[in-house]
Parts: sequence; structure tokens; C-alpha cells
Amino acid sequence: MKLAIEQANENIVLKEGGPFGAVIVRDQEVICAAHNMVLANLDPTAHAEIIAIRKACKVLATCDLSDCTLYTSAYPCPMCLSATIWANIKEVRYGNTPKEADRIGFRDDFIYKFIQEGSKDQHVLKITQTGHDQSIETFKNYVEELHA
Ligand SMILES: [Zn+2]
Repeated sequence: MKLAIEQANENIVLKEGGPFGAVIVRDQEVICAAHNMVLANLDPTAHAEIIAIRKACKVLATCDLSDCTLYTSAYPCPMCLSATIWANIKEVRYGNTPKEADRIGFRDDFIYKFIQEGSKDQHVLKITQTGHDQSIETFKNYVEELHA
């Protein structure tokens, strides 16, 4: 956790993104460390956890991090929480809470609420199902290919 917080603190000086750091550990060995790179990469998905997951997958040559622990200086935002689950990580240790991130100007708490309540506010995000007749064919083809 100390290393994740150091990564977050470094970014206050580097200004490559928000004050967030993440570290991935396996068998008490640090696999990688990362900090938020949203500004440096001009990439709104370049959160510390996402970058750490990508690095760990490369280092370990796998997309399955089920034997790893994610340390993050703040509770993962919904995107990073999803990526953590997609990567099969089984344990997360975090420092600051979504409410504390909200207090310094980050929208984690807002997005969690948005997910719970659905897209009622069309000004924030409009979600509409379109082209389902065609898109469902991809899923059917995928299943047929699996069983071929
Ligand atoms: Zn995130």
C-alpha cells in the first residue's frame, strides 16, 4: 500500500493525471506499480488500476490475475472495479473512499450512483438499444462457432 500511495503522491508533482496510484502483487512480490496517466496519455481510461492491470498481464503473460492482489490508493472507480473483476483479481486493498475522491473533484461516487439508478439523466448519458436484429446474430454465430 505504501508503494501505491507513493505513486499517487508522485503524480502531484508529475501532473500526469490525478493523485492515484496502484500496485499489483503476487506471492508477496511486486509485479508492477502505476499512477494515473489520463493527462499525459490524453486517455480518460488511463487510471492507475487499468495501467497496473495491463502491465501485470504483460509481465505475467496472461489475462488471468486470479493469484494477484491489487493495492490502490483509492477505492476503484466503476471502470477499474470492472477491469479488476474481468482480470479475476480476488483481493483489492484500498486507501481513500469514493466520497473522499468526490470531495477533491473526482466523480467516482456520482458514477456509482448513476449505475444504481440507471440512465435517468439523458444529459449525462443517453443509452439506447439499436440494431439488435443484427447485433444478436454475432452472439448466435459465436455460440455456433464454440460448438462447431
Ligand atoms: Zn478508475
